[in-house]
Amino acid sequence: MQKVLTIGEVLVEIVATTKGDGFLAAQPLVGPFPSGAPAIFIDQVGKLGTPCAIVSRVGDDDFGRVNIERLRADGVDVSGIEIAEGETTGSAFVRYREDGSRAFLYNIRHSACGKIRPNPVSEALVDSCDHLHVMGSAFSAPELGAMVMDAAQRIKTRGGTISFDPNLRPELMRDPAMRAPLDAILAMTDLFLPSGEELFLFEPDHDEAGAVEALLARGIRTIVLKRGAKGASLFQKGLRADAQPIPVEELDPTGAGDAFGGAFLSFWLRGTDPAEALRLANAAGARAVTRLGPMEGTSTRTELDAILQGQKG
Ligand code: ADP
Repeated sequence: MQKVLTIGEVLVEIVATTKGDGFLAAQPLVGPFPSGAPAIFIDQVGKLGTPCAIVSRVGDDDFGRVNIERLRADGVDVSGIEIAEGETTGSAFVRYREDGSRAFLYNIRHSACGKIRPNPVSEALVDSCDHLHVMGSAFSAPELGAMVMDAAQRIKTRGGTISFDPNLRPELMRDPAMRAPLDAILAMTDLFLPSGEELFLFEPDHDEAGAVEALLARGIRTIVLKRGAKGASLFQKGLRADAQPIPVEELDPTGAGDAFGGAFLSFWLRGTDPAEALRLANAAGARAVTRLGPMEGTSTRTELDAILQGQKG
């Protein structure tokens, strides 16, 4: 089976259990939970039994270890996570506001994952993997962006495949410095996984159907549009499939898109019928939001089947 690689940040998340705006007053917190969009994504890939690896960097501390141990237990090759002595693993404090939006306080600027650089282990992983999952946010850090671009070009040139989740905050989407690398990645993309408005990142002058058509005309094989609590849709040339949202109690939406993407990719790489892969990924996204902690809701195949059976019953 093809081996999936991703490159990017690993951190922990500490979540407030009361709703509100920020962290000015003492409040009950839970965590640390393993986190980082690439880490959540690859954890989901590993849980479904697809061979996979991550290249990252953590401090020699418990926040790093909690991630490494979780990812390893879930089937991810963690040999590419460098442990940097004397440095610290990043953290994010999260609090939910009454309206469901999130207030984040990040401690990642000076964390170990800010210095992910090519090394002999990461180079060997790029050489041994056949699929790269790219997060657009990687290009907000020039060295990480260059490393991801190089990996994408090498894997693609060897006949491998690329999935791409823009994963961009609106202010980054408008940053002109991001344009060239994002365009270059899109040109290599086989599977595009935008969320909501990200569909229009490269085709701003179209409606949804027009943007999809223009993206498929550029050579993207599969587009999967994540619609949050409204479900998801899949587009290929001559094919559209929609997944209605599975009714769940949303406890923590962080990481849903990564769990969804990791699940979809796993089935897509195995050649599962696209509508069925979408149905399973939709279940992975729905299950992800029911657990507090971004990586706590990644799913095994048995857990996906259970949530889909519950939907039927
Ligand atoms: P992202 O985190 O990338 O913004 P979304 O929030 O769109 O991703 O979530 C990814 C997928 O997870 C959705 O397309 C949907 O399938 C599922 N999902 C997310 N939120 C819910 C919800 N509240 N109820 C049911 N399914 C959900």
